[in-house]
Amino acid sequence: KVERSPEVQAARMLLPVVAEEQKIMEAIFNNPCVVIWGTTGSGKTTQVPQFLYEAGFGDPKGPTPGMIGVTQPRRVAAVSMSKRVSDELGGLPDKVSYQIRYESSVSSQTAIKFMTDGILVREIANDFALLKYSVIIIDEAHERSTNTDILIGMVSRIVDLRGDMNKEDPKVTPLKLVIMSATLRVSDFLENTNLFRNGPPPLVQAEGRQFPVTVHFSRTTQRDYLEETFQKVSRGHKKLPPGGMLVFLTGQNEINALSKRLKESFVNTKASNSTSQKITISASDAPLETEDLDLGGDLARTHRDLNNHADGWSDEGEDEDEFAIEPVEGYTSMSSHIHVLPLYSQLQTKDQMLVFAPVPENARLIVLATNVAETSLTIPGIRYVFDTGRAKERRYDQMTGVQTFEIDWISKASASQRAGRAGRTGPGHCYRLYSSAIYERDFQEYAEPEILQMPVEGIVLQLKSMDLQHVINFPFPTPPDRHSLAKAEKLLTYLGALSPHGKITPIGRELSAYPLSPRFSKMLVIGHQHGCMPYTIALVSALAVQDLFIPENQLDLSAPIQDAGTIYTTADRLEDESRERRKREFHKANSVFSKNSVSSDAIKALTALCAYAYASDHDMFALNYFLSPKAVKEASTLRHQLSTIVQNNQPGVLPSKFQSRLPQPSPKQLKAVEQILAAAFIDQVAIRADLAPTAEETPRKPSRATDVPYLPLFETHQGKADDIVEIAVFIHPSSVLANFAPRELPHYLVYSHLQRSAPASVEGARKPRTR
Ligand code: ADP
Ligand code: MG
Repeated sequence: KVERSPEVQAARMLLPVVAEEQKIMEAIFNNPCVVIWGTTGSGKTTQVPQFLYEAGFGDPKGPTPGMIGVTQPRRVAAVSMSKRVSDELGGLPDKVSYQIRYESSVSSQTAIKFMTDGILVREIANDFALLKYSVIIIDEAHERSTNTDILIGMVSRIVDLRGDMNKEDPKVTPLKLVIMSATLRVSDFLENTNLFRNGPPPLVQAEGRQFPVTVHFSRTTQRDYLEETFQKVSRGHKKLPPGGMLVFLTGQNEINALSKRLKESFVNTKASNSTSQKITISASDAPLETEDLDLGGDLARTHRDLNNHADGWSDEGEDEDEFAIEPVEGYTSMSSHIHVLPLYSQLQTKDQMLVFAPVPENARLIVLATNVAETSLTIPGIRYVFDTGRAKERRYDQMTGVQTFEIDWISKASASQRAGRAGRTGPGHCYRLYSSAIYERDFQEYAEPEILQMPVEGIVLQLKSMDLQHVINFPFPTPPDRHSLAKAEKLLTYLGALSPHGKITPIGRELSAYPLSPRFSKMLVIGHQHGCMPYTIALVSALAVQDLFIPENQLDLSAPIQDAGTIYTTADRLEDESRERRKREFHKANSVFSKNSVSSDAIKALTALCAYAYASDHDMFALNYFLSPKAVKEASTLRHQLSTIVQNNQPGVLPSKFQSRLPQPSPKQLKAVEQILAAAFIDQVAIRADLAPTAEETPRKPSRATDVPYLPLFETHQGKADDIVEIAVFIHPSSVLANFAPRELPHYLVYSHLQRSAPASVEGARKPRTR
């Protein structure tokens, strides 16, 4: 029996989804698959699992004993929603659990399980009929994350399979599929006859009680949108009546910079310095925001100048008086404080949860968020939205395999989702930091599905391991193009995972057992040579979790440092002298990690992760050695996890007890680890251009390592390129090799990925760089 508190009960009653409970449950009882559409905040994620629970799903003694599985594209949402549902159900904490890549609270008591979509994809590999579940809810389907797309294809088939199994053996219960979406972009599923062979599933609508949101476009679109955001939010705070503000930015760096600046100008008494310094962060320096992939490869990033046409547009008549709102009597905003909270995926979970906590009295909540606040999370009390109109998105060149992370305009659908965040508690306002002309001309209707923006070798391997010979026949909601499927098959063949005829090999089956991209799995499968397995595992963990090292250009923004009893916080401006000292410490820390190899970034990452395991105070170690605390913690957890998986899959290659503190590897072992790495990146080798058979005299000898051209040995470009400038790649400035004298650079390089660099940093040329 569920006993909800009176407050929860009252809040539920206001949710549109609760008003439609009967309609929703009837549809689910009468159909194997159902699509639910309702605006963000209408109660889909928190309420539908509770309806199912109360109807007996997940009850071990009932007729539908399997768990209620709920997938989310984002980890933040999986964790926070399971907590919320558990709270709402009151007193049943064991019944609701979550599982994300690095954490799980699932037990034998679990009835409702929240998880990331990648987790369920992995589970299907081991339990093809998903027998542990009685119903699968695929949430946030409109986001079109790759794993969600794959799940819709797979689970729609499993529903048929469970139906057939039930006919043969009534003890096997049928499986229900519920797809939930915040937008009406569901036609890709509904009208796809390849997906739902018995006709489209019914669409149940829970129309949100959304208050009107007034949208204000800017008259012009500023190139420096961060500065513009600061100005506008500051003015807004002074002029606007009480109400929370939600500001959409593109990443962690922008959020931290804006947070610091807002606090400086409103918390400090000397508010005057607020206009003196400008915030400038190039997107190419920003850390990755998008969560790393459970399937697929590495990420890279760059910045594309999206403001080519931005300046100079103007829309007469708009934005005359930007905050033309009825004044509230007796209200003076200057007496109110600001309560600034960041929200992005790399933030620790407990800090993310702060946005749901009560706001201090007499303070205005200002949440600075990335896309995570667009549809997955609903923050209470938001009345004003400030939308920069930009997001950091993955771009992947299907032809060359070059990946980039670019700041680009969002879609019209996203802009409308963002605006909608202002209308949950009452009428709201959305301030767009771009003009309506830009919106009309440059914003696409919908964002492209992610599957078209990433390498698909992980997906191809997964499908092949399920004995799907012709991957092209899989019911993808939006199929990847043939070229990228072919490219993925080629790589899998190099790795020995597929036979020349495209059939999965025993090695391929081994690779598919690991929750990693096939390259990293390959390293684990061959990693036992010379007793290297513990090192190989640590190396894979360090590489699979991105951004272990805090880059030099983020020194000032990184966490506080301990210095002879004084703690400098990010809010303090570091004096020149301590800034210099910090730089020296940074270089010292980095050279410590290079002790095992002066020329390998991979070995440097391995060394850092192994050293971290020896620290008595992990967080302090991360701070002092310029490692990202969250990333290095995740890498450590992954290390532990992978050790368990390796132990199960390859009995005897590891000591029976996990050993986090490893002895110094021998020179022979270091060499072997490098060879293992090279085997996994066999198609990503480049030769120094002057040593290539086709080498031409170059007119000028490069003076810096980062200007020395290398040539990839495998085709990266379509067709042939005669011009060396067209096909050359260069060492990334963050690499340990960047400090080499040009003539001492190695003849060959193994690289993890190519990325296109920001035009500014290479004087106008756009050359791919290796990392
Ligand atoms: P949907 O999935 O349709 O977007 P949700 O089920 O996530 O909607 O949210 C329903 C309502 O519950 C929201 O309007 C929000 O205000 C409230 N809510 C959700 N999570 C929390 C939380 N952690 N704390 C307080 N309120 C919450
Ligand atoms: Mg939701």
